Amino acid sequence: MRNIEEVLENVKTVGIGGHVRPDGDCVGSCMALYLYLRENFPRIHTDVYLDKMQPVFSYIDRIDEIKHEAGEEISYDLFITCDVSARHRLAIAGEYFDAAARTVCIDHHVSNAGFAEVNHVRGEVSSACEVLYSLLDPEKISRSVATALYTGIVHDTGVFQYSSTTPDTMRIAGELMKFGFDFSRIIEESFYEKTYVQNQVMGRVLTESLLLLDGKCIVGYLKKRDMDFYGVEGTDLDGVVSQLRLTAGVEVAIFLYELKPQYFKVSLRSNGKVDVSRIAVYLGGGGHVKAAGCELNGSVHDVINNITEQVVLQLQAGGEE
Ligand code: AMP
Ligand code: MN
Ligand code: MN
Repeated sequence: MRNIEEVLENVKTVGIGGHVRPDGDCVGSCMALYLYLRENFPRIHTDVYLDKMQPVFSYIDRIDEIKHEAGEEISYDLFITCDVSARHRLAIAGEYFDAAARTVCIDHHVSNAGFAEVNHVRGEVSSACEVLYSLLDPEKISRSVATALYTGIVHDTGVFQYSSTTPDTMRIAGELMKFGFDFSRIIEESFYEKTYVQNQVMGRVLTESLLLLDGKCIVGYLKKRDMDFYGVEGTDLDGVVSQLRLTAGVEVAIFLYELKPQYFKVSLRSNGKVDVSRIAVYLGGGGHVKAAGCELNGSVHDVINNITEQVVLQLQAGGEE
């Protein structure tokens, strides 16, 4: 696919969906595509479906139009997923995806094997927003679309810091900046700023973290009863694993929190020596080389043991080279 218009021929209804517990890139890419279609193809009926998200993205236009429930009976001519690495990761709108006449997947996860009819997956690109930008006509991008795209690029590059950031990423971000939105505020308020409780939880996880494998691996965890005590949910914990990773000497950071009794959401981050996507895929999840995730059953210690075993294997293999 070279341009999104290629898949819009004879299409009267479009559904858009992102992954569970949407992050900045997921919200940004889904909203950018939604706004682009609404503004440039008003004759197409377009809906966007996402799980409930953090309130920090309220500056994105029409964000209140997101459907958080799959209530309507409608079968779309076309369903497009953004930032979704596998069919089971697609939130709430899974049935619409399955029932759609045609499906398109726009993504940047190396673990994405292609689950739609048309798969536009660029594993080397920083963000789904950057992939999406290359499919849009620059002349048709508005300030609203630019704001959403910029948000996703900022979030998935850790504010242009991660190694997935390329000269193209910077060039595109520069093009988007020309629209004159308040980029400092977007970065500060949607990426860095945390609520008091989020910071408290971060402090607690850091205090109770475990340093394993001669300091090469750090593990933080949060049980359901502690999440209930603070009144936090999964999306409140964005950023915890990145902070763990910033510990000197650490190669891999692991953060787990309990979704339901003895069932954990696991986030993995690597400084490069270990491919955490491989570990996540092995354990039924997916992601990128330096950032990946999966969901596992068992006690905190079972989960830690299962993952660190895989980390050790890779560290040993690397040491022998
Ligand atoms: P997270 O740790 O949730 O921030 O996710 C890190 C990266 O891995 C993101 O790009 C996610 O989309 C991806 N990811 C997380 N969990 C899974 C999963 N269970 N299956 C596939 N990809 C995942
Ligand atoms: Mn994402
Ligand atoms: Mn992404």
